[in-house]
Amino acid sequence: MKNRLWHDRAATLNFDGRAFIDGHRKWALSEKTFDNQSPVDGRRLGKIARCEAADIDLAVAAARRALNDGRWAGLAPAARKRVLIRFADLVQKYGEELALLETLDMGKPIKYSLSVDVNATANCLRWYGEAIDKIYDEIAPTAADSLALITREPVGVVGAIVPWNYPMIMAAWKIAPALAAGNSVILKPSEKSPLTAMRLADIALEAGIPSGVFNVVPGFGHEAGAALALHMDVDCIGFTGSTKIGKQILQMAGMSNLKRAWTELGGKSANIVCADCPDLDAAVAAAIGSIYFNQGESCNAPSRLFVESSVKDRFLEKALAMIPLFQPGDPLDEDSIMGAIVDATQLNSVMAYISAGTREGAKLLAGGIQLKAESGGYYIAPTLFDEVNNEMKIAREEIFGPVLSVIGFTDINDAIRQANDTPYGLQAAIWTADLSRAINISRALRAGTVHVNQYDGDDITVPFGGIKQSGNGRDKSLHAFDKYTELKTTWIRI
Ligand code: NAD
Repeated sequence: MKNRLWHDRAATLNFDGRAFIDGHRKWALSEKTFDNQSPVDGRRLGKIARCEAADIDLAVAAARRALNDGRWAGLAPAARKRVLIRFADLVQKYGEELALLETLDMGKPIKYSLSVDVNATANCLRWYGEAIDKIYDEIAPTAADSLALITREPVGVVGAIVPWNYPMIMAAWKIAPALAAGNSVILKPSEKSPLTAMRLADIALEAGIPSGVFNVVPGFGHEAGAALALHMDVDCIGFTGSTKIGKQILQMAGMSNLKRAWTELGGKSANIVCADCPDLDAAVAAAIGSIYFNQGESCNAPSRLFVESSVKDRFLEKALAMIPLFQPGDPLDEDSIMGAIVDATQLNSVMAYISAGTREGAKLLAGGIQLKAESGGYYIAPTLFDEVNNEMKIAREEIFGPVLSVIGFTDINDAIRQANDTPYGLQAAIWTADLSRAINISRALRAGTVHVNQYDGDDITVPFGGIKQSGNGRDKSLHAFDKYTELKTTWIRI
C-alpha cells in the first residue's frame, strides 16, 4: 500500500547531521548538537551539528580561500554551467530521497515534495546554470579615445540564511544564482528543517563544485545565523525569513562591514474578488488552494480575502464545499494534500491566532481545531473566518498557518485602501472581468507581485520579492544576479 511504502523507506533512512565545511562533513568544534524532530509523528530523527561562531569562521575562511584560488570563480561561465546542470541532474536522480527528507523534516505532503520541491530545486539550478553563459558585459558610450568596460564580478563570499517552509527551494533560489555568478557560498538552513540542505552539499560535491565553494552550517539563528550576518569577511547576506529577523539582519550588516544585505520577508497578501469576477469557481479554487497549500506556511499565501458583498455568500458556499478536501492527512501518504505543521511552537502560535480571531469577534465558519493523529505529529484543520475586519490581529499579523480571513466590501476603493493597510507588500490579487479596471487596481496595490484573475502565476523567469516590510530583494529571474554580482568599470585609453 502506498502509505506503507514511504513509511518503510523512512524507517531505513539514514542521514548525516554533520555540517559541510571545505568539502568535508564535520561536527561543530564545540561538539554541540541539537535534536531534530519530525512533525509527521513527533519522532526524533537524529542529531544535527550546532554550529557557532568558531564554525562560521572556518566556513568563511574556506569560502574565501576557494574564492581566491579561482577554481570556481575563475572558470569560464560555460564550465560553471556544466557543473550546475550536473548538480540539477543529481538532485533529480536523488529526488525520492530528498523528497522523503523534506517531508519528514518539515511535514509537507510527499506528493508535493516530489512534484514541486524537488523539481523546482533542480529547475532553479539548471536555469541559472543555463543562463550564466548568455550574459554579456557592456561598453559604455564614452569618449572616442577611451573604452569604459562595465563588467560583472562575483560579490565574493555569500552567506545565505533560509527559512523552514520550503527548505530546498529557498536554498536553491539563493545558491543557484550565487554559484552561477562565481561566488563562494555558506548556507545556514533553518534549525527546524536542515536535512535537505545538508544533503545538497554532498550532491554539489559529487556534481563537481570544488571544496570550499559551497558550505552548509546548520545551527540556531542567534548563533550560526548571527555569526554569519556579523562576519567581517562575508561580503553579502541573502536572507529569507521573518520581517522581525530581517530587520536584525540589516542592522548586523550595517554594524559589521556594510556587507550587501538582501531580505525576502513575510507577507499578509490581499486577494480581492469583485462581483464581476469572470469565473467565481476559479476564484474560489485559487483562494482555497493557495491559502491551504503547504499547510498555509507560505510567505505569499493570500491570507486576507476581500470579497464584494453581493457575491460573498455564493463565494463562501463554494469555499466551504471545497475545504473538506484539504483535511490534513499523513504526509507520507501519497494521497494527502495537506500535511503537518512544522513543530509544536508553530502549531501553538497558529492556534493562538485562531483563539484571537474568535475573541475579537470574527465568525469561525470552518476548522479552528487541532487534529490529534494517533501517531502523534502536529495537525490543524483548514480554518476559515468570516466577518473579519482589517484591524483584527488575524488580519494584521502573518499567521503562517492554514487560516483564511474573509473581509466583505462594497466599495472597491475602500477594499484597495484596506489591502494596502498592512506593513507588508509581498503579493496581491484582483479578480474582475474588466481589464482596464484590473490594471488600474493593480497599479494601486502596493505589492511586489499582483495577480489578475489567478493566484498561481509562478515561474523561475519572474522575480519574486516584496516591497515595504516584505523585504528589499528579488529572488528568481535574471534580476537575482544583481544581488550576487558587483558592477566594475575599467577605463582603457585607446
Ligand atoms: P525566521 O526569521 O525565524 O528564520 C529564518 C532564518 O533566519 C532561519 O534560518 C533562522 O535560523 C535564522 N535566524 C533566526 N534568528 C536569527 C538571527 N538573530 N540572526 C541570523 N539569523 C537568524 O523565519 P522562519 O520562521 O524560519 O520562516 C518563516 C518566515 O519566512 C515567514 O515570515 C515567511 O513569510 C518568510 N518567508 C519569506 C519568503 C519570501 O520569499 N519573501 C519565502 C519563505 C518564507
